[in-house]
Amino acid sequence: MSEPDTKFGDYGGQYVPEALMPAIEELTDAYERYVLENEDGFMDEFRERLRDFGGRPTPLQRADQLSERYDHEIYLKREDLLHGGAHKLNNALGQVLLAKYMGKERIIAETGAGQHGTATAMAAAHLDMPCEIYMGRRDINRQRPNVFRMRINGAAVNPVDIGRGTLKEAISETMRDWATTVERTHYVIGSIVGPAPFPAMVRDFHSVISEEIRQQSRDQLGELPGSVVACAGGGSNTMGAFAEFVADDVDLYAVEAGGSSLTVDEEEGVAPHSASLSTGEEGVLHGARTKLLQDSHGQIMESHSVSSGLDYSGVGPELSHLVDEGRVTPVTVGDEPALEAFHRLSQAEGIIPALETAHAFGFLEETLGPDGADEAAIEEPVVVNVSGRGDKDLEAAIEETEKRSLDAAPTMEVFEE
Ligand SMILES: *Cc1c(COP(=O)(O)O)cnc(C)c1O
Repeated sequence: MSEPDTKFGDYGGQYVPEALMPAIEELTDAYERYVLENEDGFMDEFRERLRDFGGRPTPLQRADQLSERYDHEIYLKREDLLHGGAHKLNNALGQVLLAKYMGKERIIAETGAGQHGTATAMAAAHLDMPCEIYMGRRDINRQRPNVFRMRINGAAVNPVDIGRGTLKEAISETMRDWATTVERTHYVIGSIVGPAPFPAMVRDFHSVISEEIRQQSRDQLGELPGSVVACAGGGSNTMGAFAEFVADDVDLYAVEAGGSSLTVDEEEGVAPHSASLSTGEEGVLHGARTKLLQDSHGQIMESHSVSSGLDYSGVGPELSHLVDEGRVTPVTVGDEPALEAFHRLSQAEGIIPALETAHAFGFLEETLGPDGADEAAIEEPVVVNVSGRGDKDLEAAIEETEKRSLDAAPTMEVFEE
């Protein structure tokens, strides 16, 4: 019998109020039985639904133009083609199905930009479960299309007015709901964060990504990848793409949001980046010990990134551990090179990536491009995880592009009638 991972070196754990412990224990038991031991054929049903509802497997595609530009074999793992347009459905579907097996009657989740809320609402509609999503008031106003997508899928969206009205407060509010409704409610956490067993469980639901990359590399390339590159916010698409390669001789790069600068002005209380793996210090947030953006007094600092999905002060405890071990290499890519990469991938390959994903491609340019840093550094073949498509980001990308003068960008001028 496999034991669930609750600690990753010094990271992870269960830093939660007493009221949540029964829920955490019940969930740990269900995770062991249904996910790790496939009781009642849970994992078979999960895989079947990922195939028929989600559209798995997603392709591993050679990027012809990028391979030529960088003189390296570049392959794309197309999670943007998963139902909903991002990797997030793997986890949302897994957790909602698990809630059903546990006999729960109600699903709650938090969302920042709305991507996780949307995936959860879709999974809950698919499995006929009532669903409520907590979302900061400010995020609701910034992300209207996703609010409509959630409601159209039948979910209720609960505005959170405390604090700054963003993801951090939405998570706290969802935990509060869960503590008083645990008997009939499951909380679908959106990344490899939170108290154990969430980080390990969410990783397991996403590890289908690296299982497929492994099989597809063998079948299509006749070898394993030399490197795997993925962007990291909380780190769920990252660990999903890395999980099956941790024990192999495959280089793993986690690309964080470098934002507008890596230099922090403590007076501001806000870091101009979201690089918790590269610059963070150990602390506790949302139930787990992990690397966090904090000031010199240990206060958690707000983060910044042009991509809302990477804009988080923490990161998964397992990734923090793998970075300390030297197994995962953290790198940063700023707002501007990410925007340039957004346009470059769209024009070169006909794939509009999510702004989150664009950071992973910015890393290729900064390493292998014409002004690149170190050509010999990346082992071929290189697999980049395309965590999501950019339709949700068109408006933000146009606005942010127009603020800067970027060589790669087309004109966004609107023609008068
Ligand atoms: C949410 C999101 C991310 C960041 O989340 P992780 O847990 O770090 O994977 C990255 N890419 C896309 C497309 C997303 O929607």
